[in-house]
Amino acid sequence: MERLDAFMARANAAYYATHDPFADVTTAPEISQAFGELLGLWAAVVWQSMGAPDPVILAEAGPGRGTLMADALRATARMVPGFAAARRVHLIETSPALRAAQATRIPDAIWHGSVDDLPPGPLLFLANEFLDALPIRQFVRRGEAWTERHVHDGQFVELPSMPPPRDGDICNGEIGETCEPALTLVATLAARITQAGGAALFIDYGPSESAPGDSLQALHAGRPADPLADPGSADLTAHVDFQSLATTASAAGATVHGPIPQGAFLTRLGLVQRTATLARTLPAARASAMMQTAHRLIEPDRMGRLFKAMAICHPALPTPPGFP
Ligand code: SAH
Repeated sequence: MERLDAFMARANAAYYATHDPFADVTTAPEISQAFGELLGLWAAVVWQSMGAPDPVILAEAGPGRGTLMADALRATARMVPGFAAARRVHLIETSPALRAAQATRIPDAIWHGSVDDLPPGPLLFLANEFLDALPIRQFVRRGEAWTERHVHDGQFVELPSMPPPRDGDICNGEIGETCEPALTLVATLAARITQAGGAALFIDYGPSESAPGDSLQALHAGRPADPLADPGSADLTAHVDFQSLATTASAAGATVHGPIPQGAFLTRLGLVQRTATLARTLPAARASAMMQTAHRLIEPDRMGRLFKAMAICHPALPTPPGFP
């Protein structure tokens, strides 16, 4: 018998160590090179607003194949050479297989197992579809009492528990989720950014306001699967609770921007214009396919609304690019 978060941590560690996750899920940087380019330029503009510190740590958590960072580095080298000279790339990744894949794209990176191991100093931090992979706990309201979901032999088992941290709007029989590693990570980053300067940008999927309900999902070969069957065979994710993360970051002294829908964020950063530029030299059929992939990232009924962008900044910084 395991608590759900222990089960999810174990299943995902096995999954990321043994699978190419991109056989099961297609993430934004794998859909369009413009995504990583625009996030790199976002970091370079925030760096300028910080007074262009040299050196500056450019960190990414859960870089997958390293595509986002490789695209970010290429774009900033061309457009903001001062940033390219100042940035030191640090990657937070636990999977040895994915570290090896990242090293082929970004040979000068330094790897860490956790944000706690990053060196001190001003920081620009990026994370796309990282928080959704962190293990959650699920609590169920049973009248006046609460239970917590555990996993035994591929089935949920409820054991009596304390109420979850936010229990107010959860009705009888409903589930409340918490993601303690995400809250700890955001608290650590917000305190550090408030003290040493910088900003963090999170892009992930979830509602803008905390909502009750079971959001645990498994994807295997691009299809929904039973999250409890065969741990390590599927990618387990859950909705990111942006509202709780924003409250945590503000409490640590940082300024929070968003969450706003990914579609609005990428549109303001110029995704459509950048894609049109990339498409200009292509044959018509490939150019039109490229424009369609960009629209997949911004259209509300595709990835444009469910995915959100949220930034956590030093309180003296101006509103970062892409946020209203
Ligand atoms: N950001 C990438 C990949 C997302 S998949 C993209 O957008 O394509 C999730 C990534 O987070 C993988 O690289 C996985 O190995 C990593 N990861 C998952 N849990 C982690 C943890 N606890 N610590 C560090 N990395 C983790």
